[in-house]
Amino acid sequence: MKPLSELILNSERWLMKRTLSYAITLNYAKFTSTLEEAWRTSIAGLSQSLVDAFEQSEAIPEINIDEDFTRDSLASFGILEAQRHRSRGVTLIMFLGLMKYYRQSYIDLIMEADFAAFYREHSRLFTERFFDRVELGFVSEWIGTSMEARLGELQEKNRLMTNEKNKYLTIFESLSNPVILLNEDHKIDNLNYAAAELFFGQKSPGAAYYGENLIEETLPWLSKSLSAFIESGSGEARFETDIDTEKGWKYFEIKLMRMLDVSEKFKGITVIFNDISERRQIEIEREKNIAELEVKNHELELFSYSISHDLRGPLLTIKELTETLAARHREILTEEERNYPDDINRAVDHMGRFIDDLLNYARLGRKSVSLRPLPLSFVIAQVMDVLSSRMQEAGATIIMADDLPDISGDQTLLLQIFSNLFDNALTYRPEQRSPEIAITWQQDNQQAIICVADNGIGIPQEQQEHIFEMFYRLHSEDEYPGTGIGLAIVKKAVEMQDGRVWIESGVNRGSKFYLSFMLAGR
Ligand code: ADP
Repeated sequence: MKPLSELILNSERWLMKRTLSYAITLNYAKFTSTLEEAWRTSIAGLSQSLVDAFEQSEAIPEINIDEDFTRDSLASFGILEAQRHRSRGVTLIMFLGLMKYYRQSYIDLIMEADFAAFYREHSRLFTERFFDRVELGFVSEWIGTSMEARLGELQEKNRLMTNEKNKYLTIFESLSNPVILLNEDHKIDNLNYAAAELFFGQKSPGAAYYGENLIEETLPWLSKSLSAFIESGSGEARFETDIDTEKGWKYFEIKLMRMLDVSEKFKGITVIFNDISERRQIEIEREKNIAELEVKNHELELFSYSISHDLRGPLLTIKELTETLAARHREILTEEERNYPDDINRAVDHMGRFIDDLLNYARLGRKSVSLRPLPLSFVIAQVMDVLSSRMQEAGATIIMADDLPDISGDQTLLLQIFSNLFDNALTYRPEQRSPEIAITWQQDNQQAIICVADNGIGIPQEQQEHIFEMFYRLHSEDEYPGTGIGLAIVKKAVEMQDGRVWIESGVNRGSKFYLSFMLAGR
């Protein structure tokens, strides 16, 4: 293909932009769309005619005095365009003027092209003559068309336009969402049936459009949000509000959008309503249920707190009285009966531990969490201090990574978490094996994943998902004493610090408890 043809076919977008910018600057856009896309057909048609002519012969298409330009194949697309514009009410002079700027855009393109001087001059002249022929073509056709024929054209076009309007009106009226169009003064320009019915009680579609009684109305309930939207200068805004409609109070999500203006003639705002009353009702009920649940939870925590407190006293009394009774009546008791006080004491101790754990759990619910940066090594050292005698007794070894991080945590909760985990590691091991506890960590984005590993009896796979549940135990009190509350406390305390806890273990393979915390300063 010839370089001029290639240039023109590859520059469609450039030509659209250039012609549109001439049209806007010189005010021709009042008859046309200002969307680039709307100019594509004319540019594509003109370019194709020009390229076809040039590909056929590079000879300059000079103009002979006796030619019939209405039958000129070069001019045929121009003639079609002229008819289209004429039927829209554009005059010959206006169209001729507009054509000058189409021509100018092609000449601009050629003058800016990277062509040799001779080739550029030839291309320019060819293009000038091509446009001359197009102009001669449509001027001849135009003046040769009778008034009657032109009137017929206008009437036909008018019918088509009315149908076109009706099509868009039908679509607009059929939208199930209420939509209101506001003009530049923020008064109603049009509104669809859904909106007219809901906000103004209109009984039939089209009543707003044809009756015009709602046009220029204002919407007082919208005025505040509208002013805020206009002041913000943004293209789009959303907000939620309730409105007293003809069908009662409804809750809406409202979207305000500046109009996507396709011809720079309509500069209003589109208001689209989405009725979310049902969703809102569900939300309100959910919020109410959550609030109720929180109150119930709080009551339950208070209840278990006071119950635990009240149970401590009687336990002490039972212990004391059992000892007194046993001492006073030792001689009348049988051998077997003499063991009863010890059995009672053991049971009472178990009950005491149970109450302690329950109290600790209940206290968690009442505690406010205060997160601050804490060196994990410091927390572990404190726990080891508290458990030192138990650890010594068991001959336990603690291995701690020497780069343990600073985490963002609540000191009381952290102490509780790690002392419960260590306590379990000391408890759940074969009798002859000395416990070993290793604390390591790794970073995962902003989080520290801490691992507490022991060499104990391990936990069977199928039980692992349950062991963080309250009162869940795998062993009897005789095998390993406990209450089944320790890990429930661990889980709750970790979650209160927005972390997670999980486990990896297997029977006789030790257990690894993983805990996630935010790293300090993240
Ligand atoms: P408790 O230790 O008071 O029974 P926990 O909630 O701390 O209650 O533990 C629940 C159950 O999980 C325990 O009964 C035990 O069977 C099992 N378990 C907890 N920690 C370990 C561990 N480190 N190794 C093996 N089993 C464990």
